[in-house]
Amino acid sequence: MILFTDVTKTYDNGTKALSNVNFFVEQGEFVFIIGASGAGKSTITKLILREEMPSSGSITINTTDITQIPNKELPYYRRTVGVVFQDFRLLSNKSVFDNVAFALQVTGASSREIRRKVPEVLSIVGLTHKAKVRADELSGGEKQRVALARAIINNPPVLLADEPTGNLDPVNAAEIMKILNLINKSGTTILIVTHASEIVDKMRRRVIEIDRGVIVRDQKFGAYSA
Ligand code: ADP
Repeated sequence: MILFTDVTKTYDNGTKALSNVNFFVEQGEFVFIIGASGAGKSTITKLILREEMPSSGSITINTTDITQIPNKELPYYRRTVGVVFQDFRLLSNKSVFDNVAFALQVTGASSREIRRKVPEVLSIVGLTHKAKVRADELSGGEKQRVALARAIINNPPVLLADEPTGNLDPVNAAEIMKILNLINKSGTTILIVTHASEIVDKMRRRVIEIDRGVIVRDQKFGAYSA
């Protein structure tokens, strides 16, 4: 679960990116965060990842107030949040298998566990046949599927996706949404920052809209436009 309580974020240069933001996302929910450029969407994802600290307020992820996590424990916390970005962020000269395996290796997983788990998640994203291909030889849709596999390999309770379909054509975008739905069905909380109005309209999931740092709409079966 994700709980923002009276969260305000003012950056060092004085820009107030969020003011008194309150929302609660239950475990297993599927939520779109929408809003114009500069509204504060990325600030929310940066706060959840503890890349930024709120100026005031508290943020609870699962059972922990993450503003209280000591810096040395951040790598452990961050493994509990899966992330995918618009630009994929793969190791381009490594194979699909190695890209996904890397996320397990950093947790100290045994090679036996890696050999068991990587094929499992590659199968979920439909890339079993591409395991040996180098990441830079994949299409955009395939790259994002690798990124999804990497994001879920440690079974995170929360998955954050920042414009996951931003670089994809409609067919590949729909495929990525299908996989996100599948991941959600297994109980993972999903938070998607997006401008893709047609996807938001089709999915009819919860929509949280932000305007200049303030939540202006929080709708259960929402569309892109109110
Ligand atoms: P969005 O993701 O909705 O486009 P952001 O969260 O990136 O919006 O930005 C919200 C506001 O905070 C904007 O006015 C932006 O210019 C400002 N901002 C974002 N990051 C920083 C930063 N590191 N330093 C100063 N201002 C920032």
